[in-house]
Amino acid sequence: MLKGKSAIVTGSTSGIGLGIAQAFARQGADVMLNGFGDADQIETLRFTLERDHGVKVRYSGADMSDAAAIHAMATTAQAEFGKVDIIVNNAGIQHVAPVEEFPPAKWDAILAINLAAAFHLIQAVVPDMKARGWGRIVNVASAHGLTASPFKAAYVAAKHGVIGLSKTVAIELAEHGITSNTICPGYVKTPLVEKQIADQARAHGIPPEHVVRDVLLSHQARKEFVQVDELAALAVFLCSDAGASMTATAIAMDGGWTQH
Ligand code: NAD
Repeated sequence: MLKGKSAIVTGSTSGIGLGIAQAFARQGADVMLNGFGDADQIETLRFTLERDHGVKVRYSGADMSDAAAIHAMATTAQAEFGKVDIIVNNAGIQHVAPVEEFPPAKWDAILAINLAAAFHLIQAVVPDMKARGWGRIVNVASAHGLTASPFKAAYVAAKHGVIGLSKTVAIELAEHGITSNTICPGYVKTPLVEKQIADQARAHGIPPEHVVRDVLLSHQARKEFVQVDELAALAVFLCSDAGASMTATAIAMDGGWTQH
């Protein structure tokens, strides 16, 4: 479905971004991977995707809190693939703490990686997308872009901001064949979620074994984690030609959470 397209997927060495990058490669797109992790494992992933799907796969270790590094990653992708048709702003981090104890450095890092990085990458690729009259911008926010939960001041603020950014650029770029949409997942069992179970237990004053049932999935009517493959299939659809009229949306894939 994406044959001949090329994509940058930020935060694609793990979790949701990895699933989206794999789905894009399966659909025939060249992919720039990004994120942190073990160098040998990332090279194995890169090589395997290329070998299995006959597409170009490159890797950038650009830190999404560094605007210059984001621009350099976009320049490299344009040079390697000849163009960038699709970006997925997915990299993200989390910190859970009551607002009065929330470390300002964590606030800054979350706003930089979860929100400002999307602005910088959009700015880097839009001129070329505009010139070619085709582009797809997919932003991975969260159900927390639509609703709040306690102890996540920075994350909820950043994710609401991502939806605002996405809607704004969607409207600006609509007449240039470029769409911008936001995917808002409910809880997905990735390292990002596994890492917050202990902090959630502390912040809510409950045992860690009760966090999944009583906190994470408490509003998710389906009472199941959202699957990475489900989110990847949605990203593929948004980036296909069938997604041309779908722009400026914030699509919840959250097991009913935000309509609960
Ligand atoms: P994850 O921890 O599995 O993956 C995060 C990715 O981002 C990794 O590849 C990591 O290396 C990368 N990353 C982190 N900091 C970076 C930085 N400074 N520069 C470059 N890369 C960086 O997390 P995930 O659960 O797959 O989350 C992906 C996105 O989905 C995030 O934006 C997250 O907020 C969002 N999300 C996750 C859930 C969930 O339940 N897991 C729910 C809703 C939204």
